[in-house]
Amino acid sequence: MMTKDASASDAMAADAMGPVHQVLRDVWGYDSFRPLQEVSIRSVLDRRDSLTVLPTGGGKSLCFQSPALCMDGMAVVVSPLISLMKDQVDALRACGVDAAFINSSLTQAEKRTVADQIRAGKTKLLYVAPERLLSNRMLEFLHQTPISFFAIDEAHCISNWGHDFRPEYRGLRILKEQFPAAAVHAYTATASQPVRDDIVSQLGLQQAEVLVGDFDRPNLTYRMLRANGRLQQVVDVIERHRGESGIVYCISRKEVERTAAALNQLGTVALPYHAGMSDEDRKQSQDAFIKETCDVIVATVAFGMGIDKSNVRFVVHAGMPKSIEHYQQESGRAGRDGLESECVLIYSGGDVVTWKKIMQGDSQSSGSGALQSLEAINQLCGSPVCRHKALVEYFGQSYTHENCGACDFCLDEIELVDDPITLSQKILSCVLRVQERFGATHVAKILVGSTEQRIVQLGHDKLSTHGLLIDDGLNAVRMWIDQLVQQSYLQRTGEYQILSLSESGRRLLHRDGDPRLSVPGKAKRTRNRTVSVDSWDGVDRGLFEALRSKRSAIASQNNVPAYIVFGDATLRELARVRPATLEAFGKIKGVGDRKLADFGEAFLELIRSYCESHNLETNVKTPLAPTTTVAPPRAVLPNANSMAAFDNFRRGESIEEVAEKLGRAVSTVVGYLQDYLRQEKITDSSPWVDEQTRDRILGNLQLIEEGRIKPMFEFFEGKISYEAIRIVLTCHQNSETPAAS
Ligand code: ADP
Ligand code: ZN
Repeated sequence: MMTKDASASDAMAADAMGPVHQVLRDVWGYDSFRPLQEVSIRSVLDRRDSLTVLPTGGGKSLCFQSPALCMDGMAVVVSPLISLMKDQVDALRACGVDAAFINSSLTQAEKRTVADQIRAGKTKLLYVAPERLLSNRMLEFLHQTPISFFAIDEAHCISNWGHDFRPEYRGLRILKEQFPAAAVHAYTATASQPVRDDIVSQLGLQQAEVLVGDFDRPNLTYRMLRANGRLQQVVDVIERHRGESGIVYCISRKEVERTAAALNQLGTVALPYHAGMSDEDRKQSQDAFIKETCDVIVATVAFGMGIDKSNVRFVVHAGMPKSIEHYQQESGRAGRDGLESECVLIYSGGDVVTWKKIMQGDSQSSGSGALQSLEAINQLCGSPVCRHKALVEYFGQSYTHENCGACDFCLDEIELVDDPITLSQKILSCVLRVQERFGATHVAKILVGSTEQRIVQLGHDKLSTHGLLIDDGLNAVRMWIDQLVQQSYLQRTGEYQILSLSESGRRLLHRDGDPRLSVPGKAKRTRNRTVSVDSWDGVDRGLFEALRSKRSAIASQNNVPAYIVFGDATLRELARVRPATLEAFGKIKGVGDRKLADFGEAFLELIRSYCESHNLETNVKTPLAPTTTVAPPRAVLPNANSMAAFDNFRRGESIEEVAEKLGRAVSTVVGYLQDYLRQEKITDSSPWVDEQTRDRILGNLQLIEEGRIKPMFEFFEGKISYEAIRIVLTCHQNSETPAAS
């Protein structure tokens, strides 16, 4: 009896996702969800409040867009910026989805049309800004409209812990009060725990499913270079990406203007973007970038949010960003489509000073938190360590790859000095000789043997360390001091940034430690990444370029961004497979029914004629072309992390312990556990759920309707957690599945 219920519920669980998989194929032309997307979508179908944290490019939009098409009523999506709304709605419409936005850019007549469409029950997704959503008129209107759910995009805007606090987001907590029947789902790329907690409490989410994805972005190659002719360093990166889109970030408006002008003089078309420009000029720059009439944008951090452009191939920071969080956010705009992209950060000690000045003038960001954040990014820049590992660990997740194959450190581009310990000892002992009472520049001057007045007056020219590094030059010694600070052997304190030895610095005097100091100005040649997330294997570059021009033309005709027509990944696959029929074209990833109908013929014609004139094979079977969308940010269950979690479970660690160790939310870890249970075909849930609870769950399996566990949760009035239910069900399902023969 119980058995029957369970297998029925199993089938229904699969059923609930069935229609979503169908729309994924028909509407978007993709064949599978990424693991975390799937869990996130389930909570939407389950009408259970949720928070999904995925890095930029992780595929958050699909988490609410695809279920919205499968549920009755209209989903309301809260989005902070007009440009962002427009992009998403354009992209949805290009896929044939009935989506709309309401904001100040619409005329009265346009607004009426949107309202009529909604009343007619046609609209599946409505995008609005929070302040408009919360107006009485809008709330009243929505009360008369069947709502499937609310999706809060860029949900970190609700938290003043976040990097982009928007007070108007605060009002959104009334949604739960005003629309008790509709679930609220929040989405953000911000990784920090306080922000996550804040989102859940500010929105008043109930029993929220919190899903946190993997923060690594394996398709990005990171490089951090000490400034040494900044402009040339920027140009070098642009040269490596001729004809591709990229962003150059500068700290100040003045730098933006200067850099853009210099680049243009050197023959790169680059447009500026900063808050000091008129709205119209800014819009022009942004449009040119999005429509790909200009490849490079030079901007302050004012640029970026609201840019959904998926094929940004490089992001250069011409100056140090303000924090690791900002770096993650800004560099994350590269490679949203999962294709390989490059992020280069150029820094100097002067950048830290610049930021401190800016922060002093800005009461909002002058707290010690801001200084700590600045210190953290400064340390990361100067430490020769794996960038992927450092970034992921900074956000509290573990990273187990020995060599990422995609950063300057792992690619062996940073040349290190041969005997860093002896060199460090020379510097540290000089700091001691001056009784830990002077700053970095003074110490460096002593080491290079300066005889300037102040040094002589203080008698520092008589010290045994005077002139010890005379051959290395002031710049190099300053850099090494910075690196020793960044690696915590030295510390700087007080207004005058006095140098002193830390505990590990003292140990280093006894040769105990592992400092890494780089050879100044001698970055080795950049190498190609050694891991391939995407390849150009089999892609005909000429055809790719021809397809790109075609895309650009179609985009201008339709007045939409180029990547909305087709993403780069799709163009690459087209240039690899070279379909000759509509049927073959429809099988390419990223080609849904609507786009096939709208653009198929135009592209096919180009492919046919190109292949004919270049004598190229068409309809190429590429069994080894797994390449196009090779899972960008691996979502929740990537090899490394999942294996790590499996080992923890094997060792008998509790869910809470594992969550703590891996820096994941409990519900995410329960997801890992379910996979572990399935893989190991474990049928006994007793290590995680007590027997009495298990029996109560198993005794009420009929409550699971269409794979939804919420009714059961509610039946127990919240006394049995979602997690316990999920674990018991998985073990039960394992006992139902016949062992593979
Ligand atoms: P985010 O909002 O998290 O930054 P997006 O929703 O913009 O990410 O998605 C990033 C890119 O990944 C888009 O080009 C999107 O079409 C693509 N994408 C998302 N989900 C999938 C999937 N399941 N399969 C293939 N591509 C996907
Ligand atoms: Zn690395």
